[in-house]
Amino acid sequence: MSPAGGLRFLCTNDDGAIAQGLDCLVRAAEALGEVTVVAPDREQSAASHALTLHHPLRARRRSDGRFQVDGTPTDCVMLAVEALMPERPDFVLSGVNHGQNMGEDVLYSGTVAAAMEGLALGIPSIAFSFAGGDHGTDVSLITAQIDAITALLRHFVSLAGLPADTLFNVNLPPRPSDQIAGVRLTRLGRRVFSDSLTRMRDPWGKEIFWIGGGTIAWSGGPDSDFRAIQEGYISVTPLHLDLTHFDILRSSERWWREP
Ligand SMILES: [Mg+2]
Repeated sequence: MSPAGGLRFLCTNDDGAIAQGLDCLVRAAEALGEVTVVAPDREQSAASHALTLHHPLRARRRSDGRFQVDGTPTDCVMLAVEALMPERPDFVLSGVNHGQNMGEDVLYSGTVAAAMEGLALGIPSIAFSFAGGDHGTDVSLITAQIDAITALLRHFVSLAGLPADTLFNVNLPPRPSDQIAGVRLTRLGRRVFSDSLTRMRDPWGKEIFWIGGGTIAWSGGPDSDFRAIQEGYISVTPLHLDLTHFDILRSSERWWREP
């Protein structure tokens, strides 16, 4: 807890320090405590959990009080906690990402990785994403959910400590807060990209490739994240950092026999 007895939040993202989704997250968190913003100075979407090792990092204080860092979301969380904040935050909040982070998205997402870094540093962490379409976000719809985000944060804060080694991945449905069906605990669905690699020519006629676009197909059961979003619910997926496949581990005697 902060000296005043309120909560101290670190807010970051992967869309950059001036992203409107970050504004919405800050406004939602300010209703409950003190907010420090440390965010990348440019878009770092799909940066995953990258750490900058090969050049120094600079944290510049903007006129609005936020810090912007010439690094990745993971760099931002590390700098904030280890150097920029006078005390450790009570929560690391990342987002609100302009676009969903469901299914395998969490493996690429800088938004989710920032929350993972918070958790790795021992701080309860939550990632927020707005599932408002794959090719552009209507920011007014994120703004319309600020109250819903505050309500969700209030719930997280009210829990007697979040489960250890767990971060929460929240996706918000693209609808006004008064039309949200509720909150559903979910598991990750499956996502299949099609035609997401485009072969092109540069201005000099040389072949180049551009990753992005295409179409996305989702699959998964009724308890999956994308189904919750489709049905108008806020999706909350608990994640942990241990990628071990425990079923394989338990069956290891059958899986491997000495020759
Ligand atoms: Mg992003």
